[in-house]
Amino acid sequence: MSDIIRLLPDQVANQIAAGEVVHRPAAVVKELMENAIDAGAGHVQLVIKEAGKTLIQLMDDGCGMTETDARMSFERHATSKILKAEDIFAIHTKGFRGEALASIAAVAQVDLKTRREEEEIGTHIRIEGGKHVSQEYCSSSVGTQVEVKNLFFNIPARRNFLKSNNVELRHIIDEFERVALAHSDVHFTFTNNGSEIFNLPPASLRQRIVNVFGNRFNEKLVPINEETPLVKISGFIGKPEFSKKTRGEQFFFANNRYIRNGYLHKAVLKAFEGLISEGYHPSYFMFMEIDPARIDVNIHPTKTEIKFDDDRAIHSIIRTSVKHALGQYNIAPSLDFESNVDFEVYFTLEV
Ligand code: ADP
Ligand code: MG
Repeated sequence: MSDIIRLLPDQVANQIAAGEVVHRPAAVVKELMENAIDAGAGHVQLVIKEAGKTLIQLMDDGCGMTETDARMSFERHATSKILKAEDIFAIHTKGFRGEALASIAAVAQVDLKTRREEEEIGTHIRIEGGKHVSQEYCSSSVGTQVEVKNLFFNIPARRNFLKSNNVELRHIIDEFERVALAHSDVHFTFTNNGSEIFNLPPASLRQRIVNVFGNRFNEKLVPINEETPLVKISGFIGKPEFSKKTRGEQFFFANNRYIRNGYLHKAVLKAFEGLISEGYHPSYFMFMEIDPARIDVNIHPTKTEIKFDDDRAIHSIIRTSVKHALGQYNIAPSLDFESNVDFEVYFTLEV
């Protein structure tokens, strides 16, 4: 019998790989926003049409790319962020797998324009379904602009699989919020079908939370701060009396990367035990700073799940720090919480 195994052409391999990273428009938004952050952008503008189904455009004022890098950026396993596998354990960037742009370009029509500060002229690359269409010089401001059009135009089965615009838009907003919360020093704007959904100027974390979720959030937040040799915890937790029946705003960030972690979520719930009624959910915006050598961010293609080498210790540190924050808020409310009745009681007792 003759041999039957063949190497897949790059285009096919990229399309298959795209299945892991690019499930829906929101995944494209996440990858493009993360690239903008990694490029050191101070201003990130997101424009979408029809919940990202026809257009996702991301503009940043980051470092931009040379002509060669712009071309290289669409190759699979092409990255400027790591050189060797161990580098993942010292990672300070969002990306490192070098597959996002290749995957996106395999399943959409992509236009990328980019310019570095030291160059006078920019590069414009067009790729459709993984095929290079054109590359030319263009005028461009410093930074990078990526337009992703007609996602899954070449995979009708996937396109049909997309949910209604409302659902897809909700997913995009979720991803946008996660990156915007993790980088409150960056200016983000977001427009859908010509109407502005967010305009978030650089701000403190508290102000960013308020700008994203509304003014009423200001009085709900209690700061959390705990420093241990293993992990530094900061951010805010919601006051117990503002817990909600629906799973509210619950965010964990590890080294400014949004992560999901059921085990650590339970640590927060444990600390709230007895303070909120059955069936109610607390909000939290919890930032963990940890030595990248102590986590593995490469256990999931989209990196929203990571592995901690000492998650039991982190569990107990989180529980203690939430309790601590809740205790401080009850005993010594800061002037931030002037409107709280407890404050008056405390104040009268003291004088
Ligand atoms: P990764 O982010 O994992 O490296 P990507 O496919 O997302 O992989 O990007 C490939 C490379 O292209 C990046 O490593 C980076 O050098 C470059 N790049 C992508 N987006 C931008 C951008 N917005 N600004 C500057 N460089 C970028
Ligand atoms: Mg990337």
